[in-house]
Amino acid sequence: MLRGQMMDRPLMISSLIEYAALYHGDQEIVTRTIEGPIHRYGYRDALARSKRLANALQRLGVGRGDRVATLAWNSQRHLELYFGVSGLGAVLHTINPRLFPDQIAYIANHAEDVYLFVDLTFLPLIEALAPKLKSIKAFVILTDAEHMPPSRLERTLCYETLLAEASADFVWPEFDEAAASSLCYTSGTTGNPKGVIYSHRSTVLHSWGACMPDALDLSSSEVILPVVPMFHANAWGLAYAAPMCGAKLVFPGAKLDGASLLELIERERVTLLAGVPTVWLALLGHLAETKKGLGAVRSIVIGGAAAPRSMIDTFQRQYGVNVLHAWGMTEMSPLGVVNRLLPKHAVASNEQRLDVQVKQGRALYGVELKIVDDDGKELPRDGKAFGHLLVRGPWTANGYFKGEGVRLGAGEWFDTGDVATLDGDGYMHITDRAKDVIKSGGEWISSIEIENLAVGHPAVAEACVIGVPHPKWDERPLLLVVKRSGATVSREEMLAFLTPKLAKWWLPDDVIFVPELPHTATGKLLKSKLREDYRLHRLPAS
Ligand code: AMP
Repeated sequence: MLRGQMMDRPLMISSLIEYAALYHGDQEIVTRTIEGPIHRYGYRDALARSKRLANALQRLGVGRGDRVATLAWNSQRHLELYFGVSGLGAVLHTINPRLFPDQIAYIANHAEDVYLFVDLTFLPLIEALAPKLKSIKAFVILTDAEHMPPSRLERTLCYETLLAEASADFVWPEFDEAAASSLCYTSGTTGNPKGVIYSHRSTVLHSWGACMPDALDLSSSEVILPVVPMFHANAWGLAYAAPMCGAKLVFPGAKLDGASLLELIERERVTLLAGVPTVWLALLGHLAETKKGLGAVRSIVIGGAAAPRSMIDTFQRQYGVNVLHAWGMTEMSPLGVVNRLLPKHAVASNEQRLDVQVKQGRALYGVELKIVDDDGKELPRDGKAFGHLLVRGPWTANGYFKGEGVRLGAGEWFDTGDVATLDGDGYMHITDRAKDVIKSGGEWISSIEIENLAVGHPAVAEACVIGVPHPKWDERPLLLVVKRSGATVSREEMLAFLTPKLAKWWLPDDVIFVPELPHTATGKLLKSKLREDYRLHRLPAS
């Protein structure tokens, strides 16, 4: 082989913050702190403090490959941990505080975390859990000496004191780019959570992918407000991609309600928002109440769950904001596809454009996709055939921490657990999670599609469709609806609303109104629980 003669520089996470400090040193990172006030500084300061943190960690005995955990909101301190921990060669383990306490204890023990950095908000949770956390040497409270609370916890340290005592002189080590950099557990609906372990290389490559114009189109003119938490798939990679391109970051801390978000959006002239649909429902509610607009926001990334057509339409037509529907998963760092319209759609009608935008989008370079049937045979990309969605690429996991779950060999594909179509233009459309698809008379019914139509009814705040056992058809769809406050709608009205929009055999057999629906720690409908709760529900004879 004739080898290329190009430098083999390792792709290191520390190089992202070094670059941002050098070329965008004054670009701001703004945080609504847990203590209350707004904090602002530039990438130059973020680098200096990440280096102080790296020195402090070293003094605490943290070495290469050690896991350092966080239980924290989106903030400048969490960003410093992203770079200080991984930059040192240790592994940043972002724990999702919305998990059940026992799951938190399970994953902290499973990861063998040596330190836990915790926001003031989560102190009561940790006080209750501390006796179960076996490997943790100390809890570092993410605050300054003045705000250190009295605590029953033994072994607590103050973050700001640690940093103040450490030097900002630190040379990031260079090591194999394949080394683990961070760890994020996925909460499957059954069984214990499994750890996805990213590398420096996968993280840097994913950041490049995210910045690309047909992906999130990030640059130094962008002001990004990630509502998606830094404990959920690295805030969709934004905490790394923003310094790569020098974008301004605005962190909302613990306040994710519509009013608090809007205040930041207006004051900081935010241009790009990112988060799951439920957050945007709250923001839209607030906008409707206050009759306000979205200021300088140009785009809003909606992912994590399907973006309903009505939501896309409202953001675009009423608020002049371009919706970027996106799909991915923790195992994919997480970005897989982003929905941008093609030049040919410029002449399409609003409805035709929405037909495209309800799909999740087209693959980024670096993500290979295909759909297969139950026997693994590839299905056509015709927008009609749907099958198991498989993926492959340099930022997709090939296994889980400590060898649990699947272990893929070179060239093998990862089964996402989603069921999807791929059309001739490459747009992928999720029809369901494989385990949520409703199997009726040997055919599949997409629960997501019915849900998306149902939330288009003005009286519906949230909808969920599950399959319930049926003696003749195997399963039939049952629609659960949470009404908007003050709104009224009957079962018959709901069905009449859906009838013209659905194939007859897709129409739910029953509609039940519920005060609320259960969600997982990452904001997805907890359908396994609902299936269990409604297993014995008697559908009316049709
Ligand atoms: P997580 O690993 O928690 O981010 O969950 C990943 C899963 O969320 C995917 O496998 C999908 O089932 C679902 N998901 C993510 N984005 C979307 C989307 N835009 N539309 C529908 N489902 C989505």
